[in-house]
Amino acid sequence: MIVAEQKPLDEIKGLIAEAEKVLVLGCGTCVTVCFAGGEKEAGILATSLRMASKIDGQPKDVTHTTVQRQCEWEYLDAVADQIREADIVVSVGCGIGVQAVVERFPEVWVVPGLNTSFMGLPTEQGVWEERCAACGSCILGLTGGICPIARCAKQLLNGPCGGSQNGVCEISKELPCAWQLIYDRLKSQNRLHLITQIQPPKDWSKSRDGGPRRITREDLRLAAEASE
Ligand code: SF4
Ligand code: SF4
Repeated sequence: MIVAEQKPLDEIKGLIAEAEKVLVLGCGTCVTVCFAGGEKEAGILATSLRMASKIDGQPKDVTHTTVQRQCEWEYLDAVADQIREADIVVSVGCGIGVQAVVERFPEVWVVPGLNTSFMGLPTEQGVWEERCAACGSCILGLTGGICPIARCAKQLLNGPCGGSQNGVCEISKELPCAWQLIYDRLKSQNRLHLITQIQPPKDWSKSRDGGPRRITREDLRLAAEASE
């Protein structure tokens, strides 16, 4: 899932300072699961902003609503009237959700209520950890299913580096060395030969280095055209 955190209230207050009618727009998927921007969090943020604006002597009309997924226009269309009626929309979806609203409703001013952090998973109650950096050319099949791009501080393809000590990364005593995890995993699976194969430089052209990426499925596009 995409993991995000709510921005400090003062920052959000600054973003909406000029607006009177504010809509806090939640998202019912990833940011609901990480307790950052679902129905409950959107409601709490709306109440906080309403109260804060009263205390500041400039009461605002702050409402909230939540869609199943902000990153799909069909869900946004269901609340189009609420979006258009607001002076400003505070999206508490991830950065994709914010931009989906912007692209669908270009006449509306939209600001982010969250800081989108990473793709990860909950490892215990209240803890989320990064697991994938969306590099576009997955190598988990070589590393025992443990990602050195997201989990090694140096993104090494041939590790560990000389800084690994007792299974811990040199950048933090709290951080397990990703390559130690890979070694242990491959050893437990009798696949240690994989770690001795020198990996060539990665194809970073499929990562962010070439600018925004795009995937096109011609079969799906043609099927949609045929049904029109
Ligand atoms: S190798 Fe790339 S795609 Fe695979 S988990 Fe790591 S960052 Fe994600
Ligand atoms: S100690 Fe391990 S995780 Fe840390 S930078 Fe070196 S190889 Fe990567």
